[in-house]
Amino acid sequence: MNTGLHLYDTQSRGVKEVRATNGKTVRIYCCGPTVYRDAHVGNLRTFLLGDLVARTLYLLGWESEVVQNITDVGHMSENLDEDKMLAEAHLTNRDPFAIAREYEARFHRDLQTLNIKPANKYPRASDSIDLMHQLIAKLVEQGNAYLGSDGSVYFAAQTFPSYGAISGNRLSALKPGHRYDYVEDGIKRFHADWALWKAAGNRSEMVWDSPWGRGFPGWHIECSAMSLHFLNSHIDLHIGGIDLRFPHHENERAQSNSFLAATGQAELAGEAVDLWLHGEHLLFEGRKMSKSAGNVVLLSDLPGRSLDPLALRLCFLENRYRGQMDLSWNSIVAADETISRWRERIHAWQSEENLEVDRARSEIARLISFAAHDLDTPRIVAQLRVLEKSQELEPATKAAIFLEIDQLLGLDLDRTPKSTMELTIEQANLIERRANARTAKDFAHSDALRNELMKLGVEVIDTAQGQEWKFVRPEPI
Ligand code: AMP
Ligand code: ZN
Repeated sequence: MNTGLHLYDTQSRGVKEVRATNGKTVRIYCCGPTVYRDAHVGNLRTFLLGDLVARTLYLLGWESEVVQNITDVGHMSENLDEDKMLAEAHLTNRDPFAIAREYEARFHRDLQTLNIKPANKYPRASDSIDLMHQLIAKLVEQGNAYLGSDGSVYFAAQTFPSYGAISGNRLSALKPGHRYDYVEDGIKRFHADWALWKAAGNRSEMVWDSPWGRGFPGWHIECSAMSLHFLNSHIDLHIGGIDLRFPHHENERAQSNSFLAATGQAELAGEAVDLWLHGEHLLFEGRKMSKSAGNVVLLSDLPGRSLDPLALRLCFLENRYRGQMDLSWNSIVAADETISRWRERIHAWQSEENLEVDRARSEIARLISFAAHDLDTPRIVAQLRVLEKSQELEPATKAAIFLEIDQLLGLDLDRTPKSTMELTIEQANLIERRANARTAKDFAHSDALRNELMKLGVEVIDTAQGQEWKFVRPEPI
């Protein structure tokens, strides 16, 4: 069934309608973080893409089922043939799983701060080893994969004739020696084959037994295994950053389609994924973000500059997902000012009467249609700026439009603006007591205080930077 949401599909190189092939929910898989470090704002731009899709589908009347993997094993760094998790573990002399759990928790906190709604499931690669074994075993049985003389299992690229359909990197044109999957000459049958299961060799951490001996999974196989298992063998929409188009998604497509063909489950002419959506990269002040360039920006850097983290979200919304975007501190400051101004205005507009219901409805429908047409969020923001200044619309109508479309924007536009806020002595007192209870880890007491504050119209929010609060409508007594 068609959903009314149209997105650019990298494989067919055109805008295509998202379908809910089971007629009920849109099955979405988003490639998740490799949890050996904090997600930078570029990663977050890509993670926001899944949220915008799910929010748009919701406004179009569709539920989505979103799965996002946590890569905590097997992702090789680009230049070294070393696992990113293990590299960090060796550098910091820590247990790799302890590092993974720490950064996984921080990833979830970042999503929450950026108002990214949680996925339905966050399966970990390290918990999905059996799923990968089942998939690899089937591929070996069908002749799509083979055991190399080094004890690793490789996918035989030439058994998948349409290899290269997503990225355009056809096998005939691929040169030997791709950096992601270097192995000694002569072990792989064909230079573009890649490892599904790697023999442990000297490695003693993060290794598992398997039918092919002790080892660890390749990176690409985890996404095939988890997407097919958790989304019931078909993915309506697959999301990731543009760098994953090749080799990650190309290899995933070969693995998943070959598995479905082998198990007789191939729907939709044998394609496991209906639509491949890629978000373009984020640059910071004109340059690629990297440790060596010293320009890696984290979400947690914003509050230190007295900036609302949601200012970053507005910056992202002002740039179409499929164009490269150059972020700067100036643009975040400008977005922060816009959000504050909107909150002030909406607060004032709301107290006015004469809501024009039909006018508000048609304007909201128009804004949603911009999102439905390949997530044209810059057009929505531009239109909101026009509406903000309009002399024709009643203030109450403007407030209704802004607040309704905030279901998509996720900018908390209903927050009471700072300039109009004044806490009563009782509220201020309770807020302080709650902060103390939290610091003392007296969670029962801090929860009770939170409930008390909620009844008084103050919502307390725990963030990475500590306790924050906002005015909300008091709960009915
Ligand atoms: P990683 O944690 O490195 O596996 O990356 C997580 C996600 O972030 C992937 O979907 C990447 O494609 C994406 N990504 C990495 N760098 C950037 C960037 N500079 N801008 C946007 N997305 C990025
Ligand atoms: Zn992936």
